[in-house]
Amino acid sequence: ISGTIVGIWTPEMFHGVSVAGYHLHFISDDLSFGGHVMDFIIDNGIVEIGPVDQLDQRFPVQDRQYLFAKFNVDEMREDITKAE
Ligand SMILES: [Zn+2]
Repeated sequence: ISGTIVGIWTPEMFHGVSVAGYHLHFISDDLSFGGHVMDFIIDNGIVEIGPVDQLDQRFPVQDRQYLFAKFNVDEMREDITKAE
């Protein structure tokens, strides 16, 4: 399959804001398949690396469902641990 992997490496001290270590996501060229990457082998490709010196986090504050949602933080933490 051909596509693009985008990822970041986060220092341990920022775990929680992001996932500590490498965190990679994939999207296929035809945009029909993608998600979190657990492992991969590259036949050929281009690797680009650069520093990230800022994080811009936005929230959907115009969305009433988001504003009044009852989040179960423990369940969310468990789901993230399983997925990542
Ligand atoms: Zn992920």
